[in-house]
Amino acid sequence: MKPEQLVRPEILALKAYPVPSADGMVKLDAMENPYTLPEELRRELAAVLARVEVNRYPAPSPQKLREAIARRMAVPKGMEVLLGNGSDELIQMLIMALARPGAAMMFPSPTFVMYAMGATFNGMKAIPVPLREDFSFDADAFIARMGKENPALVFIAYPNNPTGVVYPEEDLVRVIKACKGLVVLDEAYHVFAGKSFLPRLVDFDNLVVIRTVSKLGLAGIRLGYLVGRPEWVAQLDKVRPPYNVSVLTQAAALFMLERLDVLEEQAARIRDERAVLGKGLSALAQVRVFPSEANFFLIRVADADRTYEALKKQNVLVRNLNPGIKNCLRVTVGTPDENRILLAALREAL
Ligand code: PMP
Repeated sequence: MKPEQLVRPEILALKAYPVPSADGMVKLDAMENPYTLPEELRRELAAVLARVEVNRYPAPSPQKLREAIARRMAVPKGMEVLLGNGSDELIQMLIMALARPGAAMMFPSPTFVMYAMGATFNGMKAIPVPLREDFSFDADAFIARMGKENPALVFIAYPNNPTGVVYPEEDLVRVIKACKGLVVLDEAYHVFAGKSFLPRLVDFDNLVVIRTVSKLGLAGIRLGYLVGRPEWVAQLDKVRPPYNVSVLTQAAALFMLERLDVLEEQAARIRDERAVLGKGLSALAQVRVFPSEANFFLIRVADADRTYEALKKQNVLVRNLNPGIKNCLRVTVGTPDENRILLAALREAL
């Protein structure tokens, strides 16, 4: 039997999410925190994980972890926390729950690819609305389009990936007020931007915020969280796979939430390094750097495919966004050493 005869055509038409091997490379393609945990903390964490009962299923709706997140992340009173296996899973759950027949999803474009992918998986119509040439947000155009399409779901990454741009708060408030569907603000990069709609959740009944611990330095444990009103969380929780957050993830997250200062200090170092790398990139005549409030930069070069390959030959892995975003590469802010290697390799490659 041929899978092609049975698999849905829209799935057959997809390409799998590309994750190239990074063995032996300077890995600047996935917006990870480049710093590992201090040695002593690693030992303590190992001891904590050693005590976890891996023979048991995880708590189905881990209350302790949800409460710890609410406390440490200043979740407003009255709001609830829903956990996902990465925020990727929360995105899927949101779409699955809202994909009524004929329902549409809207998002400014370019943005994180998993919104559109999730729409395809769940048979929802995806409507990308172009950002301006400089990747700023045209709120008027977006609101006008919402009036026509009446989306059930709007995704806005705040700051945006892969551009690093944070849209003005007033623009987003206008979108939320004008939207008759649910607005999801994806704050995956909030630690680098210092801006958040979490405190404003109480002002709107059609807003939820999703976040992840991935960019904070825990990408490997796969944990995302959604914050919203209890009535939204109650519905979304129905599509959550049971036991979606492993016992090891729960234990590691609880441990690290008590030691957030370590990760926040690393994030502060990344923000400092962002300024240094930004200057270094801007100094390259053949590179256009877009300003970023995240832990990466979008850069435009004359020939992104060639530059990407030339960097790869020098063992530097970045993300090539060409042809989707013409001649653009996305580079993650790494350690000072990694950033120096990147700049040297770029000079060589251009
Ligand atoms: N949202 C945005 C905007 C992202 O860039 C990413 C990851 N690149 C995610 C969500 C997913 O993050 P994770 O699944 O690791 O929590």
